[in-house]
Amino acid sequence: MATPTSSTESLSPTRPFRVIIAGAGAAGLCFSHALQRAGIDHVVLEKGVVAPDWGASISLWGNGARILSQIGCMDALEAEAPPLRMLHVRGPDGKVFCEEPFFDMMLERNGFECLTMERKHFLRIVHEQIPDKSFIKTGKRVVDVIDNDDGVIVKLQDGTQEEGDMLIGCDGVHSTVRELMWRDANLAQPDYITTQEKRSMVTTYRSLVGVAKTVPGIGLQCMNWVCHSGLSFLILVQPDKTYFFVNWKMPQKMRWPSKAKWSNEEAERAAASVVELPISDSTVFGELWKHKIRAHLIGLEEGIFEHWHHGRMALAGDSVHKMTPNFALGAMCALESATVLINGIHDMHSTLGPGQHPTKSQISRMFQRYQEERMPRIKAAFDATALITRMHACDGPYHWFAMRCVFPATGMKPYADALGHLCSGAPKIKFLPVEYKKSATIKWQDEPDHVPGKESMRPFKWGKGRNDFAMDFASILSFIFLVFFVCGSVLDRSLSNSSSLGGLADDLLLRRGAQVRNTTSFRSGSQPNFSPIAGV
Ligand SMILES: Cc1cc2nc3c(=O)[nH]c(=O)nc-3n(C[C@H](O)[C@H](O)[C@H](O)COP(=O)(O)OP(=O)(O)OC[C@H]3O[C@@H](n4cnc5c(N)ncnc54)[C@H](O)[C@@H]3O)c2cc1C
Repeated sequence: MATPTSSTESLSPTRPFRVIIAGAGAAGLCFSHALQRAGIDHVVLEKGVVAPDWGASISLWGNGARILSQIGCMDALEAEAPPLRMLHVRGPDGKVFCEEPFFDMMLERNGFECLTMERKHFLRIVHEQIPDKSFIKTGKRVVDVIDNDDGVIVKLQDGTQEEGDMLIGCDGVHSTVRELMWRDANLAQPDYITTQEKRSMVTTYRSLVGVAKTVPGIGLQCMNWVCHSGLSFLILVQPDKTYFFVNWKMPQKMRWPSKAKWSNEEAERAAASVVELPISDSTVFGELWKHKIRAHLIGLEEGIFEHWHHGRMALAGDSVHKMTPNFALGAMCALESATVLINGIHDMHSTLGPGQHPTKSQISRMFQRYQEERMPRIKAAFDATALITRMHACDGPYHWFAMRCVFPATGMKPYADALGHLCSGAPKIKFLPVEYKKSATIKWQDEPDHVPGKESMRPFKWGKGRNDFAMDFASILSFIFLVFFVCGSVLDRSLSNSSSLGGLADDLLLRRGAQVRNTTSFRSGSQPNFSPIAGV
């Protein structure tokens, strides 16, 4: 990281109030939509192109869908993407052990369909709906910043610069703005951002993510979780395309400044290690892989940083809160964070007279309110995602039992209620009209006739919140199953080579009913022989 450029450079005295945003992903594009509608000057700087040919899918929950509807994108998104309907949860043999119309349940609760589409199409559509695209500048990589008393000067790799009142880092998980902010914060106050905080984002799972042509045998407009131990498949099937995520637990966790990177050859080898595994009653992963359009092997970082702002810089989206894709909440949370910051900027702007600018401490206080408002919701979404990720991968006995015993016992209704209530507390853009869907069974918490007190901020913590009974019952059930399987696995000496309790229990289940060919090659806990290149 470069040392700061001289801070004696001064800004033009006649400039208007202006917001600089780094990154034209979900959060950055939302900023431009809303700030244009508020008449606030800004620029979004994107290092590459908008909507690159990368990644897999984006699914929408009510919390993000309502914001997208406010900024005028929902009609175009609905026209492009059919919603999901069924959620099938499958064991290592590909057979369903739990299935329900989970996405219809979410429509009932929040009034929004769970639209699912390719990530690049999602970004393309959100970009297409932007009234004036000249606010978005592509090929503009942020490399440095000067955070002065009177504003920021943002330096770009092409030698140009932009001036404004603040810099918002919507530049994703490997954020440059975050590193610049850390640098300035530690210069102003040594050890303010500790090494521990910098290393608090952890990569525990890696994922082979991709897009394939839809093949028969997995169903349509459905999501499939295929749960092994230490490995899970997440497969979203739409009529034209299927999106897949194969998540492995890594042998070793990675933290900043290391970045997990794998080559295409390593992605091929990773795929080769799972091609024989069933993903439904009649399909193995290899059939999908044969029809792949593109795939990458990526690390799935997880973490929430403690400091979201410093001086005139603030972070929003994956740059400050990053979760795995398993619960499809990352982009939705990025939209939520952008919304709260947009509201703060709008309120601040409305107090300014012509030619006036907010002081650095006014900006700092607005950023602090933003962080305080966001933190509890982000922690709730993060915990829910972390739990679901580990349940998918049957990560250890607790998660194995939660997935294989508790989940089928409780059914999906408590989860739909919990997610519905989490979504109902989402922020809205205060200065844009909002439509409350009459069909929604859960009232939005900002609806005039909402009765407070029913919703839990930590909906997935068992024994807490409104699903206490179901969850407590489920916990007791899971304990009984745990005792049963531990005893069974100890007695069954022929399984002594199994690598984990989850693996043992899966074997017991498979032996009790499933007709699986070549169980050994289906041993899901086995790690494919590929190791990450640690880059910085
Ligand atoms: C495989 C996968 C599937 C997912 N599925 C879902 C889902 O279904 N639903 C959901 O809600 N979330 C999902 N997520 C999470 C979601 O993609 C992210 O949370 C979301 O994209 C974060 O948005 P963002 O705007 O913060 O960052 P990003 O979308 O990462 O955008 C950051 C942008 O900043 C640009 N940039 C980076 N550095 C610079 C720089 N120095 N200067 C200028 N520009 C820069 C990048 O090019 C990029 O365009 C998924 C994630 C993955 C990995």
